[in-house]
Amino acid sequence: MLRFSRTPQERPAGPLVGYKLAYPMLSADGTVAAFSGVTLGRAHVYRWVDDAICAHGSRHECPSRWCDCGFYCFHEVADARELACAPEHQGAVQLEIVASGRFRRYELGLRYSRQRVRSVRLRACRCGRAGTVLADTGSGSAGWRRLDPVCPACAGHRPVLTPDDFGRLAGDVRVLCDEAAGPVVSTALGPVPPAEVPQDAGAVAVLTAEVALLQAQMERMQQRLDELEGR
Ligand SMILES: [Zn+2]
Ligand SMILES: [Zn+2]
Repeated sequence: MLRFSRTPQERPAGPLVGYKLAYPMLSADGTVAAFSGVTLGRAHVYRWVDDAICAHGSRHECPSRWCDCGFYCFHEVADARELACAPEHQGAVQLEIVASGRFRRYELGLRYSRQRVRSVRLRACRCGRAGTVLADTGSGSAGWRRLDPVCPACAGHRPVLTPDDFGRLAGDVRVLCDEAAGPVVSTALGPVPPAEVPQDAGAVAVLTAEVALLQAQMERMQQRLDELEGR
């Protein structure tokens, strides 16, 4: 068995607080609220306290240096907010989490094995009003419905959960609501068409770059393994 020297174990002085995006989920029987990832691990639903499992179906512990699996978070809330500007993340909510267990540190954030969700923040609805309910999107994954933070008007006749109910079903997690969209919507101008909402993809680009670096590192390691094994 080949062994590489381990990176020295870091002992954090305090709780490792981070920020990320997630889709709010509700079990098909309506008894449990949970979350699913917006990028890697999109198919996996996790509870308010949960351990990462390999998104690629391997049985190794997360985060493995050979794999890109594990929970991810940003150090700064601004980066999570920036990621939320990407149009594909419209239905996501922002989580404040505490990371623990095994972790790897990157410039912008952490990849780690265990997560506790401290609070959930609902963004403003697409129409600009505050998102104050969680409506059934009609989509989801096996056993889970995906919810969408919207205002009561946009929820229409869809079944909804109040933020308090969602928090209770998630395990007594605090759920906060963003105010109605501020600077981009002015009553004098009327609602800004979606194309004019700033879609700064900076954080997305940086996160993508980090994943690309990680993959390049994995390829180098794999090459080294192949060489050592004389393949
Ligand atoms: Zn893995
Ligand atoms: Zn609305």
